[in-house]
Amino acid sequence: MTSSHPPLGILGMKPEEIAAVFAELGQPAFRAKQLVEWVFSRRAASFDDMTNLPKTTREALATRFVTRTMQIAKVTGSADTTRKFLLKLHDGRYVETVLIPANPALYGGKSDRRTLCVSSQVGCAYDCKFCASGLAGFTRNLTAAEIVEQIVQVEAHAGERVDNLVFMGMGEPLANYSNVTKAIEILNAEWGIGIGARHMTVSTSGLAPQIKKLADFPLQIRLAISLHGATDEVREKIMPVNRKHNLVELFEALEYWNAHRKQFLTFEFILIENINDSLDQARVLAKRARDVNAKVNLIPYNTVEGLPWARPSEARQDAFLAVLSNAGVTATLRREKGHDIAAACGQLRLKQETELGIIESPVPSRRITIGAGA
Ligand code: SAH
Repeated sequence: MTSSHPPLGILGMKPEEIAAVFAELGQPAFRAKQLVEWVFSRRAASFDDMTNLPKTTREALATRFVTRTMQIAKVTGSADTTRKFLLKLHDGRYVETVLIPANPALYGGKSDRRTLCVSSQVGCAYDCKFCASGLAGFTRNLTAAEIVEQIVQVEAHAGERVDNLVFMGMGEPLANYSNVTKAIEILNAEWGIGIGARHMTVSTSGLAPQIKKLADFPLQIRLAISLHGATDEVREKIMPVNRKHNLVELFEALEYWNAHRKQFLTFEFILIENINDSLDQARVLAKRARDVNAKVNLIPYNTVEGLPWARPSEARQDAFLAVLSNAGVTATLRREKGHDIAAACGQLRLKQETELGIIESPVPSRRITIGAGA
């Protein structure tokens, strides 16, 4: 199988698409229903497991579809901590997905909630200056099957269900709009994986036109904005995307979201020392959060090897948080899980692939020591 003909991953197909292929193969329609049940509800990994389908049907299916397109290449972490899964795709590329056993700080989650942080692209084109995921540039979009399969692979490995999903792994989900929204429909559907829409969060660096499009998407998913700068001046320095879609355009899209949706917005705001951690930024951020009724997640910057950024002192973090709280904004300071295994936000990909010798480190491997300890 060559990369120009990616395998037709059945986990990325809706029942009507599966039924259409069945019709082409001259198979009766009820067989398509059986297949959907095997693939999604029963998570069958092989056509041979589908015992109520005739052997000839199974053989015909195997010529058109694959049930799995990726393999788990490496797992870091342990069962009761954050676990990072390195997944090898059919074309030899890698992405990562991170299982967070319980994170009450995330989106009002209950303490027994298992969150999976999924990737949407191999690499990323947006070049945020603080983030590891874009350091090696953009390679390709993930297919809907590859997005859905991250959940299926991790659940099989962990032996438990995932009940909360965040599109906060590698890539910009809204730059892969059609595959991401198709995956969300499959993940949400009764016949599919069955995760509640309110338990799925798409995070974006701020693609204003696609935010509006997503506001028209019928499922009640949540939206998180990686804001990281309260003014154009600060945001532009660390997020080149701001030159394309500035804060006026972004907030216009957020107003549109609010006018169409009931789910609250979340702003992600990484605190980076001397870049965006001034109390002036906190005051402008408070106003902006109030303007669109957003919650704020403050994230102390996670070290990225080779990048010169530092995490502010805890006193500084607390002062920033206090400005928001005093202004009546719901804000949390997120003590990240998985920082030690480079599985925290913005640390994905680079370190592990470098360790495996899969890619050359695109940045000098000089270790930057940061001020406040992780
Ligand atoms: N491209 C999307 C999805 C990636 S989400 C987006 O930008 O939202 C990954 C989250 O981790 C984003 O909020 C991102 O800004 C944040 N992040 C990136 N690098 C980080 C770092 N070094 N420390 C903490 N958070 C980081």
